Order: sequence, then structure tokens, then C-alpha cells
Amino acid sequence: MKKDTGKNKEITDKWRLQTKLVRGGTYRSEIGETSESMFMTSGYAYDCAEDAAARFEGEQDGYTYSRLRNPTCAMFEDKMALIEGAEAARSTATGMAAMTQAMLSIVKAGDHVVSSKTLFGSCRVFIENILANFGVSCTLVDGDDNEAWKNAFKPNTTAVFLESPANPTLDVVDIEFVCNVAHENGALVVVDNVFATPLLQKPIQMGADIVIYSSTKHIDGQGRCLGGCILTSEEILEENILPLIRHTGPNLSPFNAWVMLKGMETMDLRIDRMCENASKVAHGLRDLGCFETVNYPGFADFKQRDLVEKQMSAGGTVVTVFMPEGREQAFKFLNALEVTDISNNIGDAKSLMTHPASTTHKSVEEEARLGMGITEGMLRLSVGLEHPDDLLEDFAKAAHAAGLKV
Ligand SMILES: *Cc1c(COP(=O)(O)O)cnc(C)c1O
Repeated sequence: MKKDTGKNKEITDKWRLQTKLVRGGTYRSEIGETSESMFMTSGYAYDCAEDAAARFEGEQDGYTYSRLRNPTCAMFEDKMALIEGAEAARSTATGMAAMTQAMLSIVKAGDHVVSSKTLFGSCRVFIENILANFGVSCTLVDGDDNEAWKNAFKPNTTAVFLESPANPTLDVVDIEFVCNVAHENGALVVVDNVFATPLLQKPIQMGADIVIYSSTKHIDGQGRCLGGCILTSEEILEENILPLIRHTGPNLSPFNAWVMLKGMETMDLRIDRMCENASKVAHGLRDLGCFETVNYPGFADFKQRDLVEKQMSAGGTVVTVFMPEGREQAFKFLNALEVTDISNNIGDAKSLMTHPASTTHKSVEEEARLGMGITEGMLRLSVGLEHPDDLLEDFAKAAHAAGLKV
């Protein structure tokens, strides 16, 4: 018997977070490799026709086809489930694949969805416009308004979707409250936990039925690969997710799964440092005193501070900055940056800044965009691993170039 504890749940469940991140879910082949193998294979060969039949029948363990299961993707899924404290996980090609598959697996024509209003652009378009094409209606609520959540349910509401903190406004939703209301109304809750990461917030412990990630962000953490993951119970995976996913094929490439596995080994270190940097940079930006507003969930006077303290273990890695004079000034500021890149990704080791109204949220109509609080002067900053003073010096120069008094 090989010593291979990464897949033994009795052992791995007892490990602390860092050990889980480095060793959880790994499978070692007879070669004895220390770094996980990349199984770049679409199919699997059987010793005899009876074995093939038995595997398709589910009577024999093993792989049949990589759209259904792949060993490298399975290692990533097992590690994610362990970190999240979920019974089951399924990887997808992107975060949007995870989001859309999760939603499509729990709604059908005639159903109604309740969602927070402030969402990542594609999530909002999917909830509001694409689901409508399939006969699923929605009610959008202000995420911080518990009364509005309560009043939004209808007899045909089957699903709730929310992001907290939301992209890009950083609005926070009381996840436990919304889960309780949803369950009283017989609806399942899907939480997009991308901004908080699996390390800072645990939606399943607060009652969420499904958690989704874009692993493109902090999980890869180095801006290399797209990926996604759905985390849920064994029951929902078997009854809802797999019947859709197996026949629609939004799979993560084993190569990308391998990159994500490597990313997870350093995730705790990266998130810790990025949160520390984000806090320093947010305070430093505010101290410059030249912006209309600087917003960061880690601020002591953040408008939903109590809720942040209740459900997050740190303020996260994203900061928003509002330019007093709108788009032109925001563009001037971006164009003057020498360290931080103009880029619309988040969770990268490199600090990245974007103008949501013209990029990530461009596909959302102007009125809806303004309704979410995405103004023409808003900039979203994803803080990376550079020295925070280099970032702050760069921002002060850019502010000057944008005509602000520093
Ligand atoms: C990036 C992002 C997504 C989509 O992820 P992709 O990997 O780009 O498909 C979904 N939700 C949030 C909050 C995001 O930031």
C-alpha cells in the first residue's frame, strides 16, 4: 500500500488550513512524483470490454472520459472541497461557466430568481437577460436591504444569487440572513465568493447551498489561466449539477487544473500579504486626501463594518477609488500609472486597476450601472504583492498627473 494521504478524508479533514492547501486532495502515481501529475488525456483504455461496460455501469471505479472526470481536475476539486468545507466540488473552464451551470442546474422555465443588484457584469447580464430567454424571471434587490430580500420572494422562487463583497462596489450582503429567508421560502442559495476567496469567508457555514469561484482570480493568483469551481453537497452535485454538466461539457483543462493546484500551495501566503498590502494602500490613498471617496471593507468606518466583521476574516484585496471629475480624469489617472497595470483582472500578484464603467460593466446598461453605484469616476484596484510604498508613490504621481491636489 502506497503512502498517499492526500485523498484520505479521515486524515485530511483534521489538517489545518495550510497543510490542506499544500497536501490535500493530491494523488501520487506509482512513479512517486512530489508535484502532482498532469493527466493530459481525453480518454482512458480498459483491459477488456467487460471493464468498459462495468465502468459505464458505475460498478467499477475509474475513469471513462475526461468530460466526465479527469484525475488532475479531480485533485483540484478535492483540494477545493477540503478548503471550502464542502462535501463535493466540480471544476469548470471559467468562473462564468461555474456560475451559469450552478444556476441552470437549479432553475427551469417558469421559475423566479432573487438576486442582489450589484454583480459582476456578466453575472448581471446572465441573471437579468439570459435567464429570461429560458422563461426564468428575476427580482433584483439592494444587497444591503434585508427587508427588500424578504419581500422579493414569490411562490415560484427557486433560487437566490448573490456576490459579497460585490464586484466592483464592495457592497456586502448578510449571507446568513439571506440564506435563512431563502430556505423559509424553499429556494436554494448560490454565493459568488470570488472577492472574499475561500480563505476569508465561508458561505457554506452561513447556510449557502452552492458556492462558486472564478479560480482565474486569487486561486491561480498569478494571472495565467481561466478556471472555475462549484462547491456544494453530494446531493446537489448528483441531483442537479452533474446531470447538466456531464452533457454540456464546460470542463476545466487538466493543464489549467494543474496550474490551479500549484497556485493553491501558496494561496494562504499570497492572500495574507495581499490583504495587508490592500489595507496599507487603501489607507495611504485616503491619506492623500484628493479623491472623492476611497472605499475598502477593511476600513474601521466602512458602511457595513459590523457585517464585514461578522462574516469575513479580513477586508479583502480590492479597493475602489472615486475621481471627483468623472471618466476623463479617471483615464488620465490610469494612463499616468507606471507600476500598477491598466487591466480588468483581479487577484493577481501584480496590482491591476480598471475603470468598471467602460470595461467589466460595459455590457450593463448605463441606468442599471449607475443604480449599482458604478459611476464614471470609479476605479477598481486589485492590490498585488508589490511593496505597498511603490504602489502609493505611483498613485500619488498619477493623482498629480490627473490634476488632483496631492
Ligand atoms: C471574474 C469574476 C467572475 C467570472 O469569472 P471568469 O473566470 O472570468 O469567467 C464571476 N464573478 C466575479 C465576482 C468575478 O470577479
